[in-house]
Order: sequence, then structure tokens, then C-alpha cells
Amino acid sequence: MKKQLLLIALALSTAFSATAQEKVLNLYSARHYQTDEKLYENFTRQTGIKINRIDGKEDELMERIRNEGANSPADVFITVDAARLATADALGLFAPVKSKLLEARIPAHLHTDTWFAFSTRARVIIYNRSALKAEDVPTYESLADPKLKGKLCSRSGAHPYNLSLVSSLIAHDGEAKTEEWARGVVANFARAPKGGDTDQIKSVAAGECGVAVSNTYYLARLIRSDKVEDRRLMERVGIVWPNQAGHGTHINISGGGMVKTSKNQASAVKFLEYLASDEAQRYFADGNNEWPVVAGLNTNNPALDAMGKFKADTFADQRPGEERRRGAKAA
Ligand code: FE
Repeated sequence: MKKQLLLIALALSTAFSATAQEKVLNLYSARHYQTDEKLYENFTRQTGIKINRIDGKEDELMERIRNEGANSPADVFITVDAARLATADALGLFAPVKSKLLEARIPAHLHTDTWFAFSTRARVIIYNRSALKAEDVPTYESLADPKLKGKLCSRSGAHPYNLSLVSSLIAHDGEAKTEEWARGVVANFARAPKGGDTDQIKSVAAGECGVAVSNTYYLARLIRSDKVEDRRLMERVGIVWPNQAGHGTHINISGGGMVKTSKNQASAVKFLEYLASDEAQRYFADGNNEWPVVAGLNTNNPALDAMGKFKADTFADQRPGEERRRGAKAA
């Protein structure tokens, strides 16, 4: 009897340790928002799956997964920018994911067979209210206007946020016109490009620059800040939804997919599905000031509401499909 109990106990402990080993998710993340911590904690609390996170820059993480090859511990790769996701896909880093839940919740234009968008953000024009008016900078194209000479501040043009914006302009205005535009933009620089979006917002507020571009969530973060100086700073900054009379404001996405060599595929799919859950979607909106991709969700973000409704450029939406077709041809 005692021996039998011991055997049962042994069998149980083996079974448990096997389960414990499976309950891990190795997440490679190029999302650089501290507020995401809570999102991951909630997932672990709900599922018991522990997340081992490796943070890095988009390209570095993709290179790392490639170099690790079949031995890569990565289960899920999440990043920002549709072009980056398409590149990861073209490199063969993702495995197809079949999930009725993901297909039902994420609009068709915001996912492929291998990767899924979980939030969107817009790239808008900001200006110093004492130096300029909204009418001075109604479009991205207007940023090359010689009357803005010495007034424009920017982060590096090589950053994915700016590369993505430029590729949307090429799609709308053509390569030659966009090249000319880029020269005009450089001629208008108040200083050499540096810093991130928040640095541009602060420089615009301080009057060092008259105009810059920024992703919307950085603006909302300052509008909602606990610090009074952040909110004051935003009073000096005007926000323009660019190109409302034309092709609309440039939007981009944040998203991810399951890594091809994942050893924890069930956990990986569970995590992707979690990111499309009401809770996680609300978190993207209320926590990180992004727009959810799931339709009809009630969110509670006064800063996003205050920025109002706008016409979004559909180019970013179409690109995943285009890239997918191109990828299929290349394969
Ligand atoms: Fe960002």
C-alpha cells in the first residue's frame, strides 16, 4: 500500500514537473513601453504561464532569432511597425497560426496568416502655438515648405516610425516628389536630428523648434501625466491630424507572431490570443494610449478622446496584404 502511494506520488510529481516545464513563454519584445509589464503580469496570473522576456531593438531581435536558428528559445516576437513585421515574415521567422479567436477578433486587414496587429497609433504633426498656426502645417508635405526654414525638429530619419511615414508618402506622391520633399525637410531643420518623439515634443513646447512629428501615444502620455509640468508643456503644443483633406493621417501598428521554432507553441498561441482579449485591448488603450484593433470596445482614455476623430490613411492597412503577396512570390 505504502509502495503504491509512493508510486502514485512519483507519477504525479513527474506529471507536474512536465507541466511546469511547459508553462513558460519566451517573449522577444521590441515594444519599449514600461507600462507593458502589467499586461504580462496579468497573463501569467490568468494562465500560470511564466514569461521570460528579452527586450531589444527590432532589427537586433530579428537578427538574433535568425542566428539562433532551430535552437532559438523564442516563442513569440512582438514589435512595432508593419514593415518590420512583414520583414520578419519574409525572413521566415514566423509560423502560421490557426486561431478562430484571433481571426474573429482582429480585422482581416490587420493580420496575415502569420502575424497579428494588436494596436494602432497615428503619426501627427505638432507645433508651437506661439510660433505657428495649425493652418501653417496641414499636411506632411507642408513640412518641406521653405517658410518653415529653421523651425523643424526631428528624430533620426532612419527610425522605423519615420521610414514608415516616408514609404507611405512614396506610395501617395511618388518617389521623385518624395525625394524632393525630403530635401526640403532637411533644409528646414532647426538642428541635427536627435532623441525620440518625446524629446521633439519637449523641444516644440520650449520653442527650440516650431514644428515636429510625433506618435499619438507620446502626446497622450504627457496630456495624462501626473506631473503638472508635463500637462503645462502640452498647453503650448498644438496637434494637427495631417492630410485630412487628402489621403488621411499616417497610422502604424504594433503586433507579433509565433516564432517558427517555438518549443511552447500552445503557450505562444494562448499569449497571442490574450493580446486580443478585451482586457489586453483595453490595456493598450487606457495604459499605453494606443487604439485597440478589436471593434466596439469601450475604453476609458480622456486624452485619446480629447484628440478627437480623424481620417486615417489606408496605406498601412493595405501593406500587409501587399507584402504577403510579394513574400509569396519570392518564396
Ligand atoms: Fe514608441
